[in-house]
Amino acid sequence: MNAADAAPVTADNPLFRPSPLPFGLPSFGEITPEHCREALLAGMAEQRAEVAAIVGSEEPPGFENTVAAMERSGRLLVRAWSVFGNLTSSVSSPRLREIEREIAPLSAAHSDALRLDPALFARIDAVHEARHELGLDAEQVRLVERYHLDFRLSGAQLDEAGRARLTELNQELSGLTTTFGQNVQLAMEAAAVHVTDVEELAGLSGEEVAAARTAAADRDLEGWLLPLLLPTRQPLLAKLRDRELRRRVHEASVGRASSGEHDNGPVAVRIALLRAERARLLGFDTHADLVLADQTARTTEAVDAMLASMVPASVANAEAEAAVLTEVAARDGVELAPWDWAFYSEQVRAERYAVDTGALRPYFELDRVLVDGVFHAAGLLYGFRFTPRPDLPGYHPDVRVWEVTDADGSAVGLYLGDYFAREGKRGGAWMNSFVTQSRLLGTSPVVVNNLNVSRPPEGTPALLTLDEVDTLFHEFGHALHGLSSAVTYPRFAGTSVPRDFVEFPSQVNEMWATWPEVLAHYARHVETGEPIPASAVEAVEAARLWGEGFATLEYLAATLLDQAWHRVAPDAEIDDPVAFERAALEQAGVASDLVPPRYRTTYFNHVFAGGYSAGYYSYIWSEVLDADTVEWFKENGGLTRANGDAFREKLLAVGGSIDPMDAFRAVRGRDADPTPLLERRGLR
Ligand SMILES: [Zn+2]
Repeated sequence: MNAADAAPVTADNPLFRPSPLPFGLPSFGEITPEHCREALLAGMAEQRAEVAAIVGSEEPPGFENTVAAMERSGRLLVRAWSVFGNLTSSVSSPRLREIEREIAPLSAAHSDALRLDPALFARIDAVHEARHELGLDAEQVRLVERYHLDFRLSGAQLDEAGRARLTELNQELSGLTTTFGQNVQLAMEAAAVHVTDVEELAGLSGEEVAAARTAAADRDLEGWLLPLLLPTRQPLLAKLRDRELRRRVHEASVGRASSGEHDNGPVAVRIALLRAERARLLGFDTHADLVLADQTARTTEAVDAMLASMVPASVANAEAEAAVLTEVAARDGVELAPWDWAFYSEQVRAERYAVDTGALRPYFELDRVLVDGVFHAAGLLYGFRFTPRPDLPGYHPDVRVWEVTDADGSAVGLYLGDYFAREGKRGGAWMNSFVTQSRLLGTSPVVVNNLNVSRPPEGTPALLTLDEVDTLFHEFGHALHGLSSAVTYPRFAGTSVPRDFVEFPSQVNEMWATWPEVLAHYARHVETGEPIPASAVEAVEAARLWGEGFATLEYLAATLLDQAWHRVAPDAEIDDPVAFERAALEQAGVASDLVPPRYRTTYFNHVFAGGYSAGYYSYIWSEVLDADTVEWFKENGGLTRANGDAFREKLLAVGGSIDPMDAFRAVRGRDADPTPLLERRGLR
């Protein structure tokens, strides 16, 4: 124990009471890591006591004293988590990481204890049984069903022996998935390609060669080292002129963790079989059925139908791309192999679609993109107004705060923006909530967007790439989902929708980045004020289509592989994981020597170590909804308040309080049609 652990935290821990700031914005200036730790521990204890009171109630189980009471419980814990979770993502520190390691297992045990409490489940089950006779409204009925499913998927309905077996399975799986992830990491490091002759690096920039030199020096090696990235496709392959080195890099990539000390083959098999057993125990045919019960896709049939609708066109397009590449490679006397694909694809891109994406950056100054682009579009569509609140402090000087009001002037909530990369902030871009909207608790949304834009030198404007502009619109789409929320129960607020749906509204919001009226409003040259030439963006968009055949096919192959592994029976005999993979890809019609899956089994972290098992399909599922909704906006006149209001009211505002696919149908007037996505990806 160090001094900080032992020290009593001040009695006036600011997390112990609702924040006095507008909309419950946390008083960041007063909150220390020790306050977070204390509030998390106290919050878990408080919720345990609240649940004990619910379970111990003398009253017969009803909606209010059971399900609504659960929704009211854990206020301190939720408040502490929302602050702590955001701080560890955005401004982490050694002490915060230490607390994170201490809290993670306690938090897992806390939720297990709730979800596997037979007495609590008995009450929820009784309310569920009677849900249509209790005079509940539609959101309340759905909430009861939601709780029942959450608990059922966690195993609450099992008898004692079943719960014991489930705990064993969860523990073994937790160990195996950790092993899998560590094997990927170690095998990936071991597979870095060592180069001793700098001539072999021809094609790389001076910076890239220097980075390879540093990578080698870091491991006390002479020469140069090319580390691998997680997906099969290695970006350096687009540049390396030395064909033999390309072959080595490619083979190192596809062979990762498939033999030797870090062999993940047997680990993947064991994970698949244990997940299959757990699914049977919980009353499902396969692990995929269990996962999908909780998603908008619902059934393996629906996933299969969607994927199958894309396979033939993707294969045909990848073959068409291969034909072009075969010809270009032949000019060098090369017979196209998988390690040549990216290299010749880059040549075609340069020859056919000469685009200089860097030249666009002076047109994308961060503040203009944000205020005249992102906020402007949200104003035209939804009537939202954004007023800077420099008086409200964020958790770091980079953070800016806006108050959001509706068209009629009424208060909506707060939007925080934290756009620059810095030490202690994790990579990527995301949206989070500090406060979620709920009528039950009388709360309004406080949301934050994080990006990782490079900080410009002091006194110079921050210029974005077109990809970063898209990212800003995308993350703001999640923020709109949170800000538009108008539900009663916090379980359903804003982005609390299934994983295969949550990316859909944010993807839709990307459409406004290049919408002519919006683009003309924000994209002006930072020095001259000249509007961006329309042809510049069109050229980039046209270039994006090249390579979609490859990208879609490698994605579909990984998705179908994920589904195959998660539909095995618990007693399946799988001696050779490589043969299993090959057979699965062939059966799905996506086996290709030139286009391997985006992830092969032994380094498919998303599904064997991350949270995407049987769920890798989600990306394209939500993109089908997105592309079809973009069509709906276009068919109805594009950027109008009427369209915005309809989308907000029927889809964004309802969050998870109705079946999300019903919300989609309410907007679109029918089921989703994959045609617009196929067109977007040039697959028709
Ligand atoms: Zn997103």
